[in-house]
Amino acid sequence: MITMRTESMTRHADPATTAVHAAREDLTALGLHVPLIDLATTYPMPTIEAGGTAYDTLGAGERPDHEATLVYQRLWNPGVDRFERAVAALERAESSVAFASGMAALTAVLLAAVAAGTPHVVAVRPLYGGSDHLLATGLLGTTVTWATPETVGDAIRPDTGLVLLETPANPSLELIDIAAVVAQAGDVPVAVDNTFATPVLQQPVRHGATLVLHSATKFMGGHGDVMGGVVAANHEWTARLRQVRAITGAVLHPLAAYELHRGLQTIHVRVRAQQESAAVVAAWLAKRCEVSRVHYPGLAGGDPRGLVGTQMAGPGALVAFRFTGGYAAAAAFVEHLDLVTHAVSLGGVDSLIQHPASLTHRLVVSEARPDADLLRLSVGLEGVDDVIADLEKAFANLP
Ligand code: PLP
Repeated sequence: MITMRTESMTRHADPATTAVHAAREDLTALGLHVPLIDLATTYPMPTIEAGGTAYDTLGAGERPDHEATLVYQRLWNPGVDRFERAVAALERAESSVAFASGMAALTAVLLAAVAAGTPHVVAVRPLYGGSDHLLATGLLGTTVTWATPETVGDAIRPDTGLVLLETPANPSLELIDIAAVVAQAGDVPVAVDNTFATPVLQQPVRHGATLVLHSATKFMGGHGDVMGGVVAANHEWTARLRQVRAITGAVLHPLAAYELHRGLQTIHVRVRAQQESAAVVAAWLAKRCEVSRVHYPGLAGGDPRGLVGTQMAGPGALVAFRFTGGYAAAAAFVEHLDLVTHAVSLGGVDSLIQHPASLTHRLVVSEARPDADLLRLSVGLEGVDDVIADLEKAFANLP
């Protein structure tokens, strides 16, 4: 008989406390201050029968029994489990499943939809370019209907297995009303990519989302040195996703899990500080004559659905802006920055800027690709005056 261990999870009154202590509650009793890293790829099995029973449990995507052997790293790792429990606590979900990257996490969700015989996805653009491309190519056997937040209901079909959206969206920073989309989706599960908001600013489960996706590579790691992905959901979905992960193998490495679990301990202070600077930078950019438009939910007109303060606790740490001088000005601008690094990715301690049309969204069909005059800035933890001084220098050097 398979016995399922329940996931121990403590949520404190202040989520920042949860972030520091989640999935570490047992450490003191173990005589430890930080979790041990278990790098084993395999585990000794007491008997053939015990091994087989444990394999059945883990292969079905269920938690191991105390007595059971852990069998093999692709099926279970204690450090990965700690990171997953911490994410679930922060996202207010029942459980979560970690993957080798954000794209591996999305892949598992799509494969689960295909396996359930509901391969049609309704997706709200814009999405991260990689997600858009994966859906547009149908590589995994999905089909897609692109919708606006208002037309999701019309796009649902009998074979629709998933609605996918990002809020804030990459790179437009448009905020989408999750509850309004959930209402249109009916029984179809809604998956929200919460990478930009992080659980610090938004918990989509509270607004009815069934699945919450993250590129953990971004704010969760927070230092630009670890890749990972994670999906928070109910037990039914996470068991299904663990099965997909065990079969397809896109596991999170235990060292990466350790770094991501540690990253969560500082995510509140980092996201709040980065958001504070981003608001200052956005307001400063809005006054520049070289800038035709700033996309930031914290600016007047930047949140037409009124979701900051209700769905999302703040406007976030990402800013996008467009140049009156078009692509040529954007291209020249990035070449004159020193402190702010011209590089893809986001959510780290250092400020990064990139050109979505050429990089993150390069593989998106031209009609849905971001405009060529747009740059996306992830504001880091540097002093905001230094960031602004660097941007000012780059503006001053425009031809
Ligand atoms: N979702 C969003 C919003 C992203 O920005 C990214 C990457 O930039 C991904 C998903 C993919 O994550 P990863 O690069 O960890 O595979």
